[in-house]
Amino acid sequence: MKITNGKIYETVKEAVGEDSLKVVEFLKDKKNISDFKIAEKVNTDIHEIRNILYRLYNHNLVSYYRKKDRQKGWYISYWTFNKKRIKDLMKNLYFSKIEKFTGRLEVEVANRGNFYLCPNACVRANFEKATDFGFKCPECGVVLNHQDNEKTIEFLQNKIKELHKTNGFAKMGNGFKIGNGFGNGYSVVMNGNGHNVGNGFKKAKSSRKKR
Ligand SMILES: [Zn+2]
Repeated sequence: MKITNGKIYETVKEAVGEDSLKVVEFLKDKKNISDFKIAEKVNTDIHEIRNILYRLYNHNLVSYYRKKDRQKGWYISYWTFNKKRIKDLMKNLYFSKIEKFTGRLEVEVANRGNFYLCPNACVRANFEKATDFGFKCPECGVVLNHQDNEKTIEFLQNKIKELHKTNGFAKMGNGFKIGNGFGNGYSVVMNGNGHNVGNGFKKAKSSRKKR
């Protein structure tokens, strides 16, 4: 797979944040550029630039060395963009997305037609958990509504299909394992669209990671 500029920006944006793009755009074909120079060239405050550089560094997207400036008497850091890292990072992002959506899909399919939702959108629970709650919201006390999750299942299936289609890594085998993905069986509704299974399943996710 060819690493185009588009792929670089897309990956960096996703992993590090959009504000880092201006630094990457400037730095990507250069070597050993000082943080002061970067700040000057992208017309951004030096503190903000350093913050971005350290975030890039945390993802191994840049390397640097420090050198004492003899005249000024302070250290200056010189930065280089690590283009080779993009492919790995793309792969990681891709598999973690696939894993996330596959885990969510499993939970939805295992509880097909069996979710319960607070009308005030405080919680979403499977049958077992809803029974524990006495079919009342543990947050606000309102009776839980039965929720058909076919749309959520469809949404997740399409999302996974889309990922497979748009990413060259799909050809590399699945490279990840699917756990039984059940977590604690309920979650806080984040945006009310019924798709966001949210933080209730973190446990299952982390257990899958330890392989
Ligand atoms: Zn509620």
